[in-house]
Amino acid sequence: MAGTPHVVILGAGFGGVGAALKLRDAAVRISIIDKHDYHTFQPLLYQVATQELEPTAVGYPIRELLHRHDNVAFHNCTVQSVDLAKKQVVVDGMPPLEYDYLVLALGALVNFHGTPGAAEYALPLYTMNDAIRLHDHILKTLEAVDKNPALVDDGALNFCIIGGGPTGTELAGALAELLHTELKADYPNLPIDEAQVIVYEHSPHLLAPFKPKLRDYAQKTLEERGVEVQTSCGVAEVGPSEITLASGEKVKTHTLVWAAGLQANPIAASLGIELAPGGRVPVGPDLQVKDHPGVFAIGDIASTMDAKTDKPLPGLAAVALQAGHYVGETIAHLVEGKPVKPFHYHDKGTMAQVARGAAVVELPTGGTLTGRVAWLAWLGIHLSLLSNAEEKTSVFVDWGWNLLTNKRGKRIILSDEEHEESL
Ligand SMILES: Cc1cc2nc3c(=O)[nH]c(=O)nc-3n(C[C@H](O)[C@H](O)[C@H](O)COP(=O)(O)OP(=O)(O)OC[C@H]3O[C@@H](n4cnc5c(N)ncnc54)[C@H](O)[C@@H]3O)c2cc1C
Repeated sequence: MAGTPHVVILGAGFGGVGAALKLRDAAVRISIIDKHDYHTFQPLLYQVATQELEPTAVGYPIRELLHRHDNVAFHNCTVQSVDLAKKQVVVDGMPPLEYDYLVLALGALVNFHGTPGAAEYALPLYTMNDAIRLHDHILKTLEAVDKNPALVDDGALNFCIIGGGPTGTELAGALAELLHTELKADYPNLPIDEAQVIVYEHSPHLLAPFKPKLRDYAQKTLEERGVEVQTSCGVAEVGPSEITLASGEKVKTHTLVWAAGLQANPIAASLGIELAPGGRVPVGPDLQVKDHPGVFAIGDIASTMDAKTDKPLPGLAAVALQAGHYVGETIAHLVEGKPVKPFHYHDKGTMAQVARGAAVVELPTGGTLTGRVAWLAWLGIHLSLLSNAEEKTSVFVDWGWNLLTNKRGKRIILSDEEHEESL
């Protein structure tokens, strides 16, 4: 392998895996690094949190994804920093990795926007650990109320969500359904009818980037399922059993889910280059970092301009996956001395599930879909993002079973620790 160009891919999310898969037949050797040994399907994390899917349906073993890829070595370790001048990546537990081509695909982290108490007491939903922690927190809260009914007056049955974007909206619908169906049956002695799911959104609308018709449909659908939606309403402080709204009003709660923002992975700051808003790595039309040929940044860590609109592309799995495919093909072309074309994102629509069988879809043509048709489109697009046939089948079977039986995954507490590492 001496003399074979070395491609180092940091992160085995949508972008990293997409790049590795496209380099399978290229004359390169690839090292792919991730601190987890599984690829996380983030769009379905809320279904793990609300017990619709088992964690293994949403986390797929990276080593298994790379079977039949003879030119790839996976290393399960954490990236510490990148030295662009030395063309080296520092990882824990291994000597530094030297690269010829580098793909930065380390994703994003939760952003608490400096809200006091949020880092200590809010429950983010960005990683598998977050989803399992929230799953367990919901069950532990109900177990605590079972032992001490006075906790109801202390707000234990108020489930608050900060952020009315797709994650907050999807979680609110799923949580309301879970509470008022299976958990009501599991805890017949508890006043579950008094449980409230409340979404706080600081902008004037739920699902703000969507068309007004879709926003209204989403809000009405949630409200029909008992969710309270408060718009133009921010959170100023988070405590262990109370939140303070921007208006000064205090709300008792033991559960505050944070679905209100992301920042680029802090490894971006180790590059020593000027970063775009949100700490993202700015890239050119071929997704390479300015003045560093052979260094690519893709997905949530990157600030990528849409060639059609000249606006930054959103943080979506489809954007990361398409960018990963493009970078894999581009590196293969560069190695062969072929010319490189700019990246073009193919928008397949923007969508969010609001509840079982109800979704909103904004098509690239400008058309909109709601209800069951939209939900089927949502299902199809999400299945298409799963990495391989086996993963698609497993999720499809789990979903199909849940829909047919109207039941969810098994409701058991998985962890002993209340506060685990978030990422
Ligand atoms: C709750 C939620 C719901 C979402 N829903 C949707 C949706 O419905 N549709 C949609 O299109 N998009 C959705 N998204 C966005 C989408 O998941 C992201 O845009 C996409 O995952 C970005 O891909 P990526 O490859 O850039 O990063 P990621 O998929 O986040 O992958 C980054 C990888 O880097 C690894 N990593 C991070 N730091 C280190 C380190 N220091 N060392 C080693 N490894 C590291 C991580 O373990 C991870 O595997 C959702 C996101 C979330 C959080």
